[in-house]
Amino acid sequence: MTSDHGGRAVGDRGARAGRYPGGVAPYSLRYLGDPVLQQRTNDITEIDDRLIQLADDMFDIMYDAPGIGLAAPQIGVQKRLFVYEHDDEPGVLINPSVVESDGQWVFSEGCLSIPGIYFEIERPKQVMITGVDLDGNEVRYEADELQARLFQHELDHLNGTLMVEHLTDEQRKAAKKHLLELRLNGPGTGPSISIAADGTVSD
Ligand code: ZN
Repeated sequence: MTSDHGGRAVGDRGARAGRYPGGVAPYSLRYLGDPVLQQRTNDITEIDDRLIQLADDMFDIMYDAPGIGLAAPQIGVQKRLFVYEHDDEPGVLINPSVVESDGQWVFSEGCLSIPGIYFEIERPKQVMITGVDLDGNEVRYEADELQARLFQHELDHLNGTLMVEHLTDEQRKAAKKHLLELRLNGPGTGPSISIAADGTVSD
């Protein structure tokens, strides 16, 4: 998930070249149209060095993008974890699930896999989420507003669901051309747009 309208998501290719001199970064962001984004992830059964390295790489890609959340499928990995930052606190959630949700809240939402376009989407305002952290401890968070939205957005990714599946008919219609271009050509460098629930497009 991207941070706000100002933090337009662009591809991270090249940005990490310094860390892999002469080589190719092991992961890159996947965009709308990539089948891996529509597949359900597998539960994680062991927290080993490879998983810790994966989470580390995910943070690098998320911060480079820049974004405030990144789920493993967004870099082509079908594992059930996401990384995020909320209130300057980075976090990793492994095998998360929402156990309670309450309220309704409409907010403009972005996705690193759908760069350049934001949608007003209604979701529950509060959630209780459980999972495991990188140390293997069971954790439980009561989240509200932006943090709750972040968790729901990233959890959707782990179930193969993209935010475009939450759109109103009007939004779907208004976004059609942009989304088709993204599918066919990958991310562009044009200005970001925002599409309200009624299909109104603004810069
Ligand atoms: Zn996303």
